[in-house]
Amino acid sequence: MSKFAPCIRSGWCCQQAPCPFGEATSVDNNACKFLGGVEAGQHYCMKYDEIKNKIGADISPAFGAGCGSNLNPIRIKLLNK
Ligand code: SF4
Repeated sequence: MSKFAPCIRSGWCCQQAPCPFGEATSVDNNACKFLGGVEAGQHYCMKYDEIKNKIGADISPAFGAGCGSNLNPIRIKLLNK
């Protein structure tokens, strides 16, 4: 059993700030510009294939580790649909 909550593609983490491989959308928008998908539950990283095996990627963004934080309101909303 994984020690992490499963990722449900909420997009929340990447909307808060880019990981070390990402980039902010603009000076006024800190969401990563490589976050794909338009709806919560369908988001994905457009750089996944490029960065999945890079050193440090296992820690951040830690694909698949999910964000079980109860500070993620989008995750809570998706799980309670
Ligand atoms: S995982 Fe991908 S979408 Fe998310 S912050 Fe990193 S580069 Fe951007």
